[in-house]
Amino acid sequence: MVHSISILGSTGSIGRQTVEAAERLGVRVAALAANRSTELLEAQARRLHPELVAVTDETAARQLKIALADTQTRVLGGAEALTEAAALEGTDCVVTAVSGSVGLRPTLAAIERGKRIALANKETLVCAGEIVMRRAREYSAEIIPVDSEHSAIFQSLSGRGKGELERILLTASGGPFRGLTREQTYHKTPAEAVAHPNWSMGAKISVDSATMMNKGLELIEAMHLFGVPPERIQVLIHPQSVVHSAVELIDGAVIAQLGVPDMGLPIQYALTYPERLPSAAARLDLFKTGALEFFEPALENMPCLALAMDCARRGGSAPCAMSAANEQAVALFLREKISFGQIYECTAAALENIELIAGPTLEQLLDCDAAARRFVTEHWG
Ligand code: NDP
Ligand code: MG
Repeated sequence: MVHSISILGSTGSIGRQTVEAAERLGVRVAALAANRSTELLEAQARRLHPELVAVTDETAARQLKIALADTQTRVLGGAEALTEAAALEGTDCVVTAVSGSVGLRPTLAAIERGKRIALANKETLVCAGEIVMRRAREYSAEIIPVDSEHSAIFQSLSGRGKGELERILLTASGGPFRGLTREQTYHKTPAEAVAHPNWSMGAKISVDSATMMNKGLELIEAMHLFGVPPERIQVLIHPQSVVHSAVELIDGAVIAQLGVPDMGLPIQYALTYPERLPSAAARLDLFKTGALEFFEPALENMPCLALAMDCARRGGSAPCAMSAANEQAVALFLREKISFGQIYECTAAALENIELIAGPTLEQLLDCDAAARRFVTEHWG
């Protein structure tokens, strides 16, 4: 179990739940980091007494320095601040709960110091999964998934050798627009898209769940975490969100992890692993759950998932470009600059128009990420 952590994205949905878990478990929070939510950061800092608070936004950093002047907490601002929080000496784990590929460099910095990564920030693995996993092996840094499906797969694989895994069964609730056609969802509003039936999450991942891009990102995340090609990952629509995901072993046995939809448990397990401790999670009552259903995804109504599956097969810089373009498109959608249906159109157009490369370096991936964002902004921003 870990003793001292940095939380990147401490003001977000996962970050706030991580703070709760750390307080409950008696884990020291040595660093907090976010973009600009100064009020919440100040409140968190006053309660947790971290050594460092890092904020990307310079104006927010100046405000926070004044607000925390009477404390022992150091405040850092700017683009490199997140990386400083990730690399902080004396911590043994970094919870990556920022949203988007901004998490990539800090994650690598923590890996290079051999720290455990409790990984919520899936965009990092989608953007540069091969590089991240290779570095983690080189520096013997553990990557423990926080994403509920990947935590379920990780738990289901516990004690199994890699050669014993046949297939991953990746479940998806189907999001708020499950069962609707592309035409029926094309003009859905941001308020409708973020209203997820089973999970309460940040805006970006909520929209990704509505487009089903989230499941595409998760498929790529699973490929990297578990070393499995895309054709051995099956996506299943499971509206009840009780089976968080499963693995099929070579002898045909299927092992799953079940529970109520609550991120508290995967967050806690990433901190206590390999131990298990009592948690605050509500208990699963299978009598109340009722029937558990599983359906094949209707890809014709889920173009973002189909696109992600295609990028997973293409590899190279395609997943990075897709994820970056999608991030930009979702931001435009949330600002009501584009329609829901255009999220897919922007992302697909970026993939067709920017240069993609096989076997990219980290620098080439960062360039590709920037080019994809630029393309979307220039045409739709
Ligand atoms: P939120 O939008 O709720 O929070 C995002 C956090 O990241 C905030 O603390 C925000 O700071 C911070 N942040 C964003 N941009 C920057 C930046 N440029 N520099 C520093 N900090 C930044 O997101 P979620 O908690 O929902 O999701 C976080 C990650 O976890 C995502 O990758 C998501 O896919 C993944 N995830 C989330 C799940 C969930 O249940 N929410 C489930 C599984 C995975 P600020 O408040 O200052 O803007
Ligand atoms: Mg998930």
